[in-house]
Amino acid sequence: MAPDEERRPPKEAPQSEQSGVQADNGNLAQTQPQCQNEHAAQDDLSCFARLLLAEPESVVELRAIGIGGGKARICSGYFDDPGKFAAAARDLDGRAAGIYATLNPVAGGLLARANNRTVLAPPRSTSDDEIARRRLLLVDIDPVRPSGISATEAEKMAAFGVARAVCSYLDALGFPQPIKADSGNGAHIVLAVDLPADDGGLVRRVLEALAFRFDTNAACVDQAVHNPGRLTKVYGTLARKGDSTADRPHRRSRLVSVPASVLRANAHGTAGSGLNAGQYLGRHGLAVHRSSPWQGGGKWVLEVCPFDTTHVDGAAFVVQFGNGAVAAGCHHNGCAGKGWHDLRDAVEPGWRDRAGASGSLGSGSGRGAGESWPEPQPLPTGLPPVLLLDTALLPNRLRPWIEDIAARIRCPVDFPAAAAMVALGSVLGRKLGLRPKQRDDWLVVANLWGGVVGRPGVLKTPGIQETPAPPAWLEKPAKEQ
Ligand SMILES: [Zn+2]
Repeated sequence: MAPDEERRPPKEAPQSEQSGVQADNGNLAQTQPQCQNEHAAQDDLSCFARLLLAEPESVVELRAIGIGGGKARICSGYFDDPGKFAAAARDLDGRAAGIYATLNPVAGGLLARANNRTVLAPPRSTSDDEIARRRLLLVDIDPVRPSGISATEAEKMAAFGVARAVCSYLDALGFPQPIKADSGNGAHIVLAVDLPADDGGLVRRVLEALAFRFDTNAACVDQAVHNPGRLTKVYGTLARKGDSTADRPHRRSRLVSVPASVLRANAHGTAGSGLNAGQYLGRHGLAVHRSSPWQGGGKWVLEVCPFDTTHVDGAAFVVQFGNGAVAAGCHHNGCAGKGWHDLRDAVEPGWRDRAGASGSLGSGSGRGAGESWPEPQPLPTGLPPVLLLDTALLPNRLRPWIEDIAARIRCPVDFPAAAAMVALGSVLGRKLGLRPKQRDDWLVVANLWGGVVGRPGVLKTPGIQETPAPPAWLEKPAKEQ
């Protein structure tokens, strides 16, 4: 497997900030691969920034922890501009122990704390009661390991194994395909939701249920991440827990797959092709409650929801990005998943046939198209070289006996030596132990296990058969007594 920290080469033709919603031929399916396939960390960053800020007027906090090695040093800022968010995260990347963002949008006024920029040692950061609404639900699966260090490859694989089981389960229950990500040290499953910040404990119970069902000795669902103000890793940035070592390296987090359905639910549409959204609304008689410039384009809040005419509270909107792409949606639960194409279905029936795009949206999600977490790799073939056993390491009392066995049987001295140590360890039983702490009664009794590895015919069995004999002689009369 390729090391994760390795930066993949940038794409030949970099996409603009809004590439995920950019296509102008009405075929959303064709606009997804930037996010679904392996791509450079920078693409992950831009893609994630767009996901977090897809909803008009969304604001999120970007927070970097452990700047310049100082554990407590924090850098934070509030963003409603995905491009500036990605640029700020890129700037902090490699200088912080970890770079995070609020999973859910914060109250819009917080932008005034640090408007699309970061400040060092901010006086305030986001609290749970400053979250506007829950838009994403994080299932964070971490390998079991001591805290403060990066995971080994094997530990990560254990987390991916649990993540696959969770995904299959959610899929069977009919959940839409989630965002899958590699957190650098474990696996993330991120579900698009639309819940109030105070969800009555629903997200907590979801995580508890998943942990109860899927936790193993090697990897666990983190049950602590249920609160609305929870931060998540900014995908595409480096996770720097502890020191980077050969088996516990610092790794770059990354998006593994982003299904089309999530992008659509979150971005609510696509397709510009020269269309002017403001004129379009006027032409089709959609009354605009208010409009304003937005992210280099424009934003229109509609008087009446085009998807459900009982929604007259300003929840429905149309936005046009700076590059011409158009999106639409409504904040009501009943309109979740509705987008620009659904709006066009409502106001100009038959447009799909005229656009020649018929059927291109029917497939729904990127299900099956996205890659998944890496599968376990086969063990390497061949055995590594083994150090010669220095018989001087053996206890004086045992050395002549073991050397004699090896000489008579004509096998490596390692075979009887290993067997003798294990056999004698069993005689000691629990009579000897280690007290790691001086002032309490914690006692560790070592269990000695041994094995002999070798090709057929190297006299493994004769080499280990003779050494357990003395304990066996003692055992027999003891049993008869
Ligand atoms: Zn609606």
